[in-house]
Amino acid sequence: MYDVNSTKATEFIDNQEILDTLEYAKKNKDNKELVESLIERARDCKGLSHREAALLLECDDPELMEKMFKVAKEIKQRFYGNRIVMFAPLYLSNYCINGCVYCPYHAKNKHIRRKKLTQEEIRQEVIALQDMGHKRLALETGEDPKNNPIEYVLESIKTIYSIKHKNGAIRRVNVNIAATTVENYRKLKEAGIGTYILFQETYNKESYEALHPTGPKSDYAYHTEAMDRAMEAGIDDVGCGVLFGLETFRYDFVGILMHAEHLEARFGVGPHTISVPRVCPADDIDTADFSNAVPDDVFQKIVAVIRIAVPYTGMIISTRESMKCREKVLDLGISQISGGSRTSVGGYVEEEAEEENSAQFDVSDRRTLDQVVNWLLDLGYIPSFCTACYREGRTGDRFMSLVKTGQIANCCHPNALMTLKEYLEDYASPETKKKGLEVIQRELANVGRDKTREICVKNLKAIEEGSRDFRF
Ligand code: SF4
Ligand code: SF4
Repeated sequence: MYDVNSTKATEFIDNQEILDTLEYAKKNKDNKELVESLIERARDCKGLSHREAALLLECDDPELMEKMFKVAKEIKQRFYGNRIVMFAPLYLSNYCINGCVYCPYHAKNKHIRRKKLTQEEIRQEVIALQDMGHKRLALETGEDPKNNPIEYVLESIKTIYSIKHKNGAIRRVNVNIAATTVENYRKLKEAGIGTYILFQETYNKESYEALHPTGPKSDYAYHTEAMDRAMEAGIDDVGCGVLFGLETFRYDFVGILMHAEHLEARFGVGPHTISVPRVCPADDIDTADFSNAVPDDVFQKIVAVIRIAVPYTGMIISTRESMKCREKVLDLGISQISGGSRTSVGGYVEEEAEEENSAQFDVSDRRTLDQVVNWLLDLGYIPSFCTACYREGRTGDRFMSLVKTGQIANCCHPNALMTLKEYLEDYASPETKKKGLEVIQRELANVGRDKTREICVKNLKAIEEGSRDFRF
């Protein structure tokens, strides 16, 4: 029985409710009046229920789809402006005891090179990332209690935060590790993590069990209830995601929105971010094995309708996607992207030879961070290296109430300009620097309050003179 407040995975992600929702969407998709009224209501930026969102996703009327895209862009603009937050993944270890059939790190893959970074190697990787200009990382490891115990992850976080190389600093470490206990989540919280990220992969229990035949991850309930445990442990920024292409996109689209509704109902705050990766090729993995591949046009629609359904939730896209695809979805709702990513263990210090094959997935967008920043500037975006919120204690419901009232933009915008300025001073190529400085000059006019603008101008000057790390 569906119960949004339940603590049981099979009740807050009730299979029958998803099937009924898909049936409802199919039945009503040609009801123009209903679809139009939902699009109109979405303009209030209060979000939509999973049923309403499923109906929008099902609608294929070109005129109504055009309207949907327009509203998604309006919402994106209202909450996130033209800012795009930058981050990079850091792979600590690819030892893994799970059997996920879509991931090359699965335990049975014997021809992948297994590697776990020592603290010294982490230092080197972090220095390389700082020298690119990154301030925000997403930590990744496989699940392996012997090789990657929680103590190793905690020690690594400490190492990462401690490294100050030239003007570099990693100011926010988000963590993407396997589902764990409340006790371990508490330890992560104490270590000062930003967001705890865990992808559900698929919400369909039957498919989930087939895709995860062995290892601790095969326990659907333990995995699906992980965010509840993280929140019970005091981590109030959690990042959800599915791997589109494993199941039908319709099923997982409804599932992820039901998960968001569940967290909101139980803890008063939904997910901080939603990631939208698609299955992609890697060593020992052929995308042809997955028959649910999501085409680009559907992918764009998914991004737009998620934006409409959960306006306050950041949306993340990685370098799995090509430059062309990333460009298309940026204004539909994406608020964070990775740049200059390496998806192999130790890949920032030493790009691995092709035959070594230790990457988790093939990177489609292989540009450097500077090229990505330059490209964003050309498209009219402000690449932001901001990490201010969690450092100012703006997390969970405190953060959400600022987002909901739109007040957060008073912080995001000047912070974007100041962190971009740091990047331009310390890491950018001359061409990127020139473009970036022009954008900062132009965008100062869009800082909402006079007093804030005044402080921002003063700080920009101080950054030019060598000071760092200002924030609102
Ligand atoms: Fe291991 Fe994660 Fe890959 Fe599964 S997806 S095999 S848990 S690294
Ligand atoms: Fe993100 Fe907060 Fe910075 Fe805005 S001010 S970009 S919400 S960290």
